[in-house]
Amino acid sequence: MVKTCDHLQAIGPVTPSAQGCKECLAMGAEWVHLRLCLICGHVGCCDSSRYKHATKHFHATRHPVIQSFEPGEDWKWCYVDEVLIP
Ligand SMILES: [Zn+2]
Ligand SMILES: [Zn+2]
Ligand SMILES: [Zn+2]
Repeated sequence: MVKTCDHLQAIGPVTPSAQGCKECLAMGAEWVHLRLCLICGHVGCCDSSRYKHATKHFHATRHPVIQSFEPGEDWKWCYVDEVLIP
């Protein structure tokens, strides 16, 4: 069975909160890749980054769907269903 995601209907156009990871910028840390929350526009760093702020944002807010914020990448990921949406 193919896993699907019902959360996509909850997402809409968002405005990125920053051009970098908000929390990392605030503490002067570095990140590897950026992820954009498709519910509120929060920009956080990926799980390859030291502080994993995108995942922390999900745990704090339960916003399920993020999109890659890297140039040329537009895949999405649902934390709840753990499914990649191309
Ligand atoms: Zn989902
Ligand atoms: Zn970060
Ligand atoms: Zn969010």
